[in-house]
Amino acid sequence: MAEIQYRLEQKRAILGAFPGPKSAALNERRKSVVAGGVASSVPVYVQDADGGIIKDVDGNSFIDLGSGIAVTSVGASDAAVVAAVQEQAAHFTHTCFMVTPYEGYIAVAEELNQLTPGDHEKRTVLFNSGAEAVENAIKVARLATDRDAIVAFDHAYHGRTNLTMALTAKAMPYKTNFGPFAPEIYRVPMSYPFREATEIKGEEAAQRAITMIEKQIGSESVAAIVIEPIQGEGGFIVPAEGFLPTLAAWAKDNGVVFIADEVQSGFCRTGAWFASEHEGVVPDIITMAKGIGGGMPLSAITGRADLLDAVHPGGLGGTYGGNPVACAAALAAITSMREFDLNARAQNIEKIVGDRMAALAEELGENNIIGEFRGRGAMVAIELVKPGTAATTKEANAEDTKAIAAACLGAGVIILTCGTYGNVVRLLPPLVISDELLNDGLDVLCDAIRAAVK
Ligand code: PMP
Repeated sequence: MAEIQYRLEQKRAILGAFPGPKSAALNERRKSVVAGGVASSVPVYVQDADGGIIKDVDGNSFIDLGSGIAVTSVGASDAAVVAAVQEQAAHFTHTCFMVTPYEGYIAVAEELNQLTPGDHEKRTVLFNSGAEAVENAIKVARLATDRDAIVAFDHAYHGRTNLTMALTAKAMPYKTNFGPFAPEIYRVPMSYPFREATEIKGEEAAQRAITMIEKQIGSESVAAIVIEPIQGEGGFIVPAEGFLPTLAAWAKDNGVVFIADEVQSGFCRTGAWFASEHEGVVPDIITMAKGIGGGMPLSAITGRADLLDAVHPGGLGGTYGGNPVACAAALAAITSMREFDLNARAQNIEKIVGDRMAALAEELGENNIIGEFRGRGAMVAIELVKPGTAATTKEANAEDTKAIAAACLGAGVIILTCGTYGNVVRLLPPLVISDELLNDGLDVLCDAIRAAVK
């Protein structure tokens, strides 16, 4: 296994109060030109980033436990990605694959057809964003099945375009006042073990959803089920064992396309190439983005050849889809994932974080606010509850979640929050982060949790 080399010193260093003068000046410039609807959770502006470090324009070095929302799994300036981008950009930055095609697109498709679960015949199409991949997976499913209805789940997040907003569950901030939404989208209950009224097996939770589909939509009307194998924005919800395979089997029996949205969970993030693999699920179509491109905008759908080849020539595409520079970056990022064995790194991160959170929950005793530690690999989270309610009412604790994220940031550690109830601290470190830097970040997080409890 190749050793990970860093360009920037992997050390947290906050030089003084921030935002510093340069970030503050940029923020002023921003206010009069950038739309207010685009919010940033961290008030500093980036100058450089590498490994687990983000350095701002005033010289502060932050520990990155967010990876730009699960994107920079190989780091924000992986040497192989940088070299591939430079090399490709020096030749051509764009021709449009729909006009004058190039090899990089084909090479990415070859990789994805091979890396995604299942050894059936597959085809791939490349796009730019996660939402665009989801939209296109649904286009394919509807055309191939000649059916309209799409099933999505409680707590789902699939994007911010009109169709994907309809699939996304949470109103504020994603949907409120942005309607009307695309029709023929139906929402059914997810398996959310921590918040079930009584313990329910994965197969039973799946049956609950299936009954609703059959009774309220009719299976013969359903084109596709779209589901995140581990829900991301909704709260890093890992469904109970058996939930996903039961749904996938039902879909197969009923001619329904099973779409796994692995935009956030794919590419080593959960300690496997795809989260579907943890339960041996083979999706009909899989959507990918984020980690795939080493930071360059690229997304993809890979699926059964019979489904994807059902579409008429010209029915799928887009000006920038499979941009050559993004393809070169993806090929290099995938190579780095293999060379650094980032699946093993992700598993190691799960162990480090899990052990520390378990120890902290015990230390907090009756004041414990860690309701649950969950997730897989380097897609892990703690769901916070009001003190002492972890085993009883599980009252969501959004206030402390916010305070903890703010305290971490104040000490130089970038962490993200998520969840339908805004009470989940999620950790998505770059997979190349060193154990030492990760532990320093976790020291800060643990202190922030202790302070919140006091
Ligand atoms: N699906 C999932 C599971 C996601 O997590 C996201 C982004 N958070 C999207 C789709 C949308 O991706 P994008 O922001 O690239 O459109």
